[in-house]
Amino acid sequence: MRNIRQYGEAIDPRGEAQLKLLAECYASAKNYFGSRYSGPKSLMQLKRHRQNIRDPLMQTDVPETFRLTARYWKLALDESVAGIKSEWANTRNRVRKAAARNPNLSSDEKHYLNFVLRWDVILSAILCHQPFEAPDKLPEIGERTHAIHNLIRRYIRKYHGAAPIAKRKASFMVDSAMYRYRQIDGTLYLEITGIDKGQRIRIKLRDHNRHTGNLRIVLTDQGVVINTAVEVPTMQKRPENRILGIDKGYTSLFATSTDHEYGTDLGKLLSAETERLNEKNRKRNRIWAQINTLELVGDKVKAQRIRDHNFGAIKKNRQNNRFREQAKSCINHGIRQMIKIERPDVVVAEELTFQSWQKKLSKQVKRKLTRWMKGYIQERLNFICELSGIFVLLVNPAYTSQICHHCGSFGKRAGKTFTCPSCGSMDADINAAHNIRDRLTDPKIRLTTSYEKVKLILEKRQPAKPAV
Ligand SMILES: [Zn+2]
Repeated sequence: MRNIRQYGEAIDPRGEAQLKLLAECYASAKNYFGSRYSGPKSLMQLKRHRQNIRDPLMQTDVPETFRLTARYWKLALDESVAGIKSEWANTRNRVRKAAARNPNLSSDEKHYLNFVLRWDVILSAILCHQPFEAPDKLPEIGERTHAIHNLIRRYIRKYHGAAPIAKRKASFMVDSAMYRYRQIDGTLYLEITGIDKGQRIRIKLRDHNRHTGNLRIVLTDQGVVINTAVEVPTMQKRPENRILGIDKGYTSLFATSTDHEYGTDLGKLLSAETERLNEKNRKRNRIWAQINTLELVGDKVKAQRIRDHNFGAIKKNRQNNRFREQAKSCINHGIRQMIKIERPDVVVAEELTFQSWQKKLSKQVKRKLTRWMKGYIQERLNFICELSGIFVLLVNPAYTSQICHHCGSFGKRAGKTFTCPSCGSMDADINAAHNIRDRLTDPKIRLTTSYEKVKLILEKRQPAKPAV
């Protein structure tokens, strides 16, 4: 499992306040459960906590005090119980170690103690001073029994930590029935159940990934972070899984870590469009010069006529639309070809800020890469992959186009060529696609690792300079 983060923000101050209140109520409920059920008396109830804790709770007035819908406090309970259980596991380990170090215990007594620690029924009975039926496997320790039980109680008091208390009340969970995705005007929103029945809180997302299962919503100063665990097949465990790294190409839609390029006509289309726009601008400038001259000499009528005939929106819109339709078709075709030929299980892309793409392209082309096109590529990639059951995972883009994927050296990029000081020249986009793919299994570089930190990590990995 791999934790995936998604970033977003509440759409208005009201939504933000609702999220805050929700997180506070959720944390309070969790803290209540933590303090109520982490003691030895509740040890046996944890086993089947839904029957033993949740169902009886529903018969009481307690849930009303949480000011949460049933779904929310039940999730808070599940989380809280999971935390308490792991705290008990820690306690057992600490007691086991302490007993092993204790010189006053015989090996039978240590054996007895370890046995008790493994059996909740017996441990619970001892902690609550209740009689229990000793199983045959429990070693006989005779008259020392009483002293050892006292020791166990002392150990537990000493090592069983307090219930985990949430100090920062800024996160909560939602299960799959408590949220849905909604796409409006090219933007994806996450809508989650609010604090009151029927209320929905909308979060504007910065990407187009739709997740399933439980989500953890974390409120930070920078906005809302949505955490979700996604099962990622690792190359080591399941070699049959194909993980494809992709990078936005210099002259194509995507370059891949399998040394292919897709959507090569997009590059041609873009340069043709750039050419057309430049030509048009030249013509326009000539006409403006003509109008200015006419106005200077006082021929207002003719100036107006030229204006009316040359700056109409109809032709301009028609040409822009034609370009858009052609680009859309290139993009869709390119993505489909890539999926069809590569048959990936996972597509790894840079966090889709398109930063590097912008850097790679000339100023003229950049102007053409309007918002809709970037959004459109993201949306289609996610949509087509989702239809085919392919995960799109994002990785940290830092330096993926500046290091050699063979040896890790920092190299130089000039246009479509990357030059490594040791390995020589190679295709820059393909090299970046390899690096992006490798980022998925990078042990150190995470999505949120800062640029500076990535640089330090990469510098440590520089191969030794060959002796001259
Ligand atoms: Zn190299």
